[in-house]
Amino acid sequence: MTSIQKRFQDTLNSIHTAAENCGRHGEVKLLAVSKTKPSEMIREAWQCGQRDFGENYVQEGVNKVNELKDLEGIVWHFIGPLQSNKTRLVTEHFDWMHSVDRVKIAHRLSDQRPADMAPLQICLQVNIDSQPTKSGFKPEEVSKAVEEIIKIPGVEVRGLMAIPAPSEDLEEQRKPFKAMKALLTQLQTENPQLKLDTLSMGMTGDMIAAIEEGATIVRIGTALFGARDYSQPRK
Ligand SMILES: *Cc1c(COP(=O)(O)O)cnc(C)c1O
Repeated sequence: MTSIQKRFQDTLNSIHTAAENCGRHGEVKLLAVSKTKPSEMIREAWQCGQRDFGENYVQEGVNKVNELKDLEGIVWHFIGPLQSNKTRLVTEHFDWMHSVDRVKIAHRLSDQRPADMAPLQICLQVNIDSQPTKSGFKPEEVSKAVEEIIKIPGVEVRGLMAIPAPSEDLEEQRKPFKAMKALLTQLQTENPQLKLDTLSMGMTGDMIAAIEEGATIVRIGTALFGARDYSQPRK
């Protein structure tokens, strides 16, 4: 077994066990975060059966989407911060966008989505623990933002995403995830006609807490691909 195969198997086992333990069997999808990693690693992960991949940097992500067009069934998720002058590249190349943090970005993604592509699946990023430097809607702004975004074509709101401040403590990790779950439940009640089925939360260090609190997509990089090298600048 190669090390990538082993890492995927171990991570999928952890997800499976955590989900079973809280009665959520089959409800959690693994999103493999491949930022800074070469296309060949993604190819190998695809050969292990992985289909969903997440990228943070627009140009790097677009290059990989183009290089890996032959991989059948691959699904690309954009999960990084996005400047409004780069929305076109995202909406022309990705299937999902997790980090919509302003209504204006949703409008641009909508306007620029090619007519022959399925609607872009989007999550609203929420600054759930009020970190001063973190982007995202305030929790109390989300309801209104959804109301506006559901009026526009080309994008489909699927749920919420968060990147809480890291903590080593399982009980501390749970708090923002619990608040995210409550916010999604509120949105579901307000918009019963929508398919609001997604809570994108949990990374290598807090995946278990996220699953126990209701994550439907965990975004995992380090556990799958190893530590990242940031010696090269990224775009
Ligand atoms: C890098 C990144 C991840 C993956 O983080 P790991 O700790 O390596 O698992 C998940 N989500 C976002 C938004 C990221 O930028």
